[in-house]
Amino acid sequence: MTDRPRFEAMFELLVWHLRLPLPPVETVEQYHAELQDLDAEYLDMAAERFRRRPATFPTPAQWRALAGRIEGERADQLARTLAKLPEPLCQRCGDRIWIEVGGKLTEARWSYCGCMAERRAMLLGKKPWPLAKTA
Ligand SMILES: [Zn+2]
Repeated sequence: MTDRPRFEAMFELLVWHLRLPLPPVETVEQYHAELQDLDAEYLDMAAERFRRRPATFPTPAQWRALAGRIEGERADQLARTLAKLPEPLCQRCGDRIWIEVGGKLTEARWSYCGCMAERRAMLLGKKPWPLAKTA
């Protein structure tokens, strides 16, 4: 979820970087309406990539697609980083994020582990990643 002031700031920064005239306020509103369901962090990471390449201003669909791709890239990257650790960060779930709760084997029930919030914070760039051992 991305609030309007934060979105407006990243929108204006992108406009500035691409050397475009500031669009009418309705345009910002329209973009925000179409993208507000996404995490601000991924939208911001996507905006940063758009800023680094000379291009036309992205459409909301292009912005959404890049934010989604970045989310997937980061999830893969974090999974690879966690796999390289000598031992799991979370002893409870072994970094699988899921834990078995109650029930016998035939009726096993699964739930998110408590470390889920921490992993999400890492993915969003709000928390540092563990350092993977290098070769
Ligand atoms: Zn866990």
